Amino acid sequence: MTNAPVIVWFRNDLRLADHAALHAAVDSGRPVLPVYILDDTADRWAMGDASRWWLHHSLAALAQALTGVGSHLTLRRGDSVATITEIARKTGAAEIFTGGSADPGARQVNQEAVKALDGKLRQMRTTTLFHPDSVRTKTGAAYSVYTPFANACLALGGPKLPLPAPDKIPTADAPKSDRLEDWNLLPTKPDWAAGLRDTWTPGEAGAIARTEAFLAHGLTHYPDARDHPADDGTSMLSPHLHFGEISGVQLWHMAHRHQAGKGREMFIRELLWREFCANLLWNNPGLPDAPLRLEFERMPWRNDKPGRVAWQKGRTGVPIVDAGMRQLWQTGWMHNRVRMIVASFLVKHLMIPWQDGEAWFWDTLVDADLASNAGNWQWVAGCGADAAPYFRIFNPILQSRKFDADGDYIRHFVPELDRLGPRHIHAPWEAPAEALANAGVTLGKTYPNPIVDLAIGRARALEAYGQIRSRA
Ligand SMILES: Cc1cc2nc3c(=O)[nH]c(=O)nc-3n(C[C@H](O)[C@H](O)[C@H](O)COP(=O)(O)OP(=O)(O)OC[C@H]3O[C@@H](n4cnc5c(N)ncnc54)[C@H](O)[C@@H]3O)c2cc1C
Repeated sequence: MTNAPVIVWFRNDLRLADHAALHAAVDSGRPVLPVYILDDTADRWAMGDASRWWLHHSLAALAQALTGVGSHLTLRRGDSVATITEIARKTGAAEIFTGGSADPGARQVNQEAVKALDGKLRQMRTTTLFHPDSVRTKTGAAYSVYTPFANACLALGGPKLPLPAPDKIPTADAPKSDRLEDWNLLPTKPDWAAGLRDTWTPGEAGAIARTEAFLAHGLTHYPDARDHPADDGTSMLSPHLHFGEISGVQLWHMAHRHQAGKGREMFIRELLWREFCANLLWNNPGLPDAPLRLEFERMPWRNDKPGRVAWQKGRTGVPIVDAGMRQLWQTGWMHNRVRMIVASFLVKHLMIPWQDGEAWFWDTLVDADLASNAGNWQWVAGCGADAAPYFRIFNPILQSRKFDADGDYIRHFVPELDRLGPRHIHAPWEAPAEALANAGVTLGKTYPNPIVDLAIGRARALEAYGQIRSRA
């Protein structure tokens, strides 16, 4: 069939620019059929609610962008392999172009699709800077420590230049498409997404606008501002990157068009953390479920349901932890410094399994990413390949005083403490009764008492960590 179409099967790469699969499809000279499949059949790591909200808007933006270049997005819901095979058969597609991924579920789908499609599936790199197998040690082993990994990436001299977005996509006869609205990706009752709508503009255009604003105004201050959650000091590009509305390759090259300096260097190093996590997942498909350090299988985790619920709801009585957890609930995102604080508090002070925290983040983050989420939770818990040493237990009060010195971040997300001054807001239980009364705070009533004594929680964690180490 000379006029047989080719399919572009979009995954977490919902953009037109720097899209190797789309580029190859247009280059083939054949009519192009863009497709997205929502696969709810996988029960493990099915997309969380915040991600579904984002996906809805991102697909709407992609569909509009495709219409702008003369094309049309076909939406289908169902088992990925069965659905893509059916579309390919019905349309007589000559080839199917799609993105590769470090995600074990997506890798399995691609492997099965290669077989089901008689080898017509072409996998291209659309999500990472480099192919994971191209960054290896001199002996060919996978990297397990970030710094040598990042240095090896930098030694490659950067990724190739991004591919341009097509001006025009030759249209193919589209098969029947689902209606996006019928997928019910958005919350109905209760509508918890107001904070998300106020904070984000999903889609490729939103991603480019946020990147340009950050590079113009944020990059220079990034080294100083990035650790202070009350400042808009980081790019907030993580959900755009996760859904592939902008590629790391584009970001790398856009950043390099800006003046060299510490800000640019640090930002690139953060992008390499993302790459490192993807690389870890590629080489350790069990990363989201099991600790990389096997002695952690013996950790005496606590089954503390009330503690877990208080943590999820931002009602632990430790203000910086509660502020972070409420930022997550309200906006679908949390500042990186605070992610480390709340995660350390959960796994160390409360000794609740890191997988519980990982699962809550998975459901509530708009940037929920299998590799970055698992990699960072394992890092904080101390059981990852390149983990924080087990005795490093963040003191949430010292962290709070250092990185939110005036308490502005706490005040924003924990308004019941907004009349407490910088001296007492970080640890209200240490404040004199008069200061609390003047600020209208009654502990245990208007704001909780801490659910754990921080010194006792720390000692308990150190003992447990010491025990599993000594038996390693
Ligand atoms: C417990 C825990 C769980 C996390 N879960 C996720 C997750 O599910 N998805 C996710 O994208 N990030 C996760 N992170 C990493 C990090 O917190 C976010 O990537 C970052 O806060 C996003 O904000 P930003 O875009 O403003 O970052 P910036 O500081 O502007 O950094 C730019 C980009 O670099 C990447 N990056 C920065 N820090 C990290 C890091 N530590 N690990 C991996 N990539 C990084 C992100 O893609 C980010 O968008 C987690 C961190 C912790 C401690």
